[in-house]
Amino acid sequence: MNDPYLNAQSQLRSVAKLIKADEEIINKLSIPDKLLTLSLPVRMDNGSIRTFIAYRSQHNNSRGPYKGGIRYHHLVNEAEVKALSMWMSWKCAIADIPYGGGKGGIIVDPRELSAAELERLSRAYVRAIAHDIGPDLDVPAPDVNTTPQIMDWMLDEYIKVSGNKSKATFTGKSVDNGGSLGRTEATGYGGVYVMEELLKAEKVKKDNLTIAIQGIGNVGYYFASLAHKNGHKIVAISDSKGGIYNAKGIDPKLALEFKQKEGRLSGMEGTKIIGNEQLLELKVDVLVPSALENVINADNADKIKARYIIEMANGPITPEADEILFSKKILSVPDVLANSGGVTVSYFEWYQNIHNEKWSKEEVLKKLKDNITRAFKQTYSKRKELGVNMRMAAYALAVAKVIEAFKKQEL
Ligand code: NAD
Repeated sequence: MNDPYLNAQSQLRSVAKLIKADEEIINKLSIPDKLLTLSLPVRMDNGSIRTFIAYRSQHNNSRGPYKGGIRYHHLVNEAEVKALSMWMSWKCAIADIPYGGGKGGIIVDPRELSAAELERLSRAYVRAIAHDIGPDLDVPAPDVNTTPQIMDWMLDEYIKVSGNKSKATFTGKSVDNGGSLGRTEATGYGGVYVMEELLKAEKVKKDNLTIAIQGIGNVGYYFASLAHKNGHKIVAISDSKGGIYNAKGIDPKLALEFKQKEGRLSGMEGTKIIGNEQLLELKVDVLVPSALENVINADNADKIKARYIIEMANGPITPEADEILFSKKILSVPDVLANSGGVTVSYFEWYQNIHNEKWSKEEVLKKLKDNITRAFKQTYSKRKELGVNMRMAAYALAVAKVIEAFKKQEL
C-alpha cells in the first residue's frame, strides 16, 4: 500500500486505538478541513498557454493557522498533499508550535521552465489561493524544489492581491525580505540534534559512526554537513541520479562543490558509484532518507541493515515497512519529529515578522536545539511507556494535543 494518504489514515487509526481516542473526532481528523484543487493557466515564454494542476490541502487548524510547504514536482498528487498536510498537523503539535497542518503542491518539473515562467506560475498559484492564506489563516513555506526566491515572489503577489503588507504570510523567504537567519540549515541541523540525543539515549559509542544519506538537497546537505562537523563519517550520499560511496567518509562540502561543477555526484575522487536502492541497504549505523516518500517499503525493509533511521524526508517509510523494521529492532525516528526543525524555525520567522524582531543565527539555532531536544526526550520516554515504536509514540503525543484543542472549539 503506497498511497501516502491511506498510509497517513492508517497510522492515525492505529494511534487512535493506542490512546483510546474518540472515534468521531478521529473520523474528522482523517479528512482535511479543505482541499483546493486548481488549474492554473500560465503564459509560456513562446507565447503559448500551459495549464498546471495545483493543490492546497488544509488539514486542521485547531491549534493555530494551517502551516506547510509548497512542493513543485511532476509526481505531486492529491493523495500526497492530503497526507503531507495531516503529517504537518502532527509535526506542529510535536514541536509544540501554535500551528495546524497544511500542504500545497504544483504538478510541474521546474527544470523545464525558465525563471520567468516559474515566476508567473508561482504568482498564478498565489492569486488562486489568496483568499485562503494569511498570517492568521494559512502560512505556506518552501518544500521540494521551492526556494526563498519563490517565496519572495509569492509574498509580493500576495501583498498586491490582498493589500495585507505583513511578511508573515510566507516563511522561508530570503533573509533580506524578512526570512529568518538559520532557516536554510534548520531542518538538516534539527535532524542532527535529534540524532545526537538518540545516540546519547541509546548509549552508542560515537567514534567512527557511519551514516548514509539519500538525497543531498537542502535537508540532506545540512544534515551531512553538521554530522560531518560533529566527527561522524558520511560513507554514502545520493541525489536523483544516483549515489556515491566511500568507506573512509565523504566531505559533504567537497561533494556539493563537485556536483555543482559536474552536474552529478558520480566521478568524485575516492568514491564508487552506488544506486539509490543500494544506498538504503548499506550496513551503516545511521540511515538518513532525505528525498522522497515510500522509499523504504515492504519490498526492501527486510534488507535494511542500518541500526538507526532518521527520517528527514516526509513519509519515507511505509506502515508495512515500519512493522518489519520494528521486528528487526531497527529504531527509526519519525519525520514528524526528525524534520520538525524546518517548521520550528519557520515559526521563529513568522514570530519575528509579527513582532518586528531580528534574531541572530546563534539565537535561532540555540532555540531550535532546545525545542527539538525537548520533543525528542518526550517522544523517547513515551515510546518506553507505551512499548511502541517512535512514530506511534510521537503520534500519540501529537494526536492527543490536536484532539484537546479540537474539543475546545464549538461545533
Ligand atoms: P530538495 O529539493 O532541496 O532536495 C531533494 C533531494 O532529493 C535532491 O538532492 C534530489 O536530487 C534528491 N532526489 C530527488 N528524487 C530522488 C530519488 N528518487 N532518489 C534519491 N534522491 C532523490 O528538497 P529538500 O527541501 O531537501 O526536501 C527533502 C525532503 O525533506 C522532502 O521529503 C521534504 O518534504 C522534506 N522536508 C523538507 C523540509 C525543508 O525545510 N526543506 C522540511 C521538512 C521536510
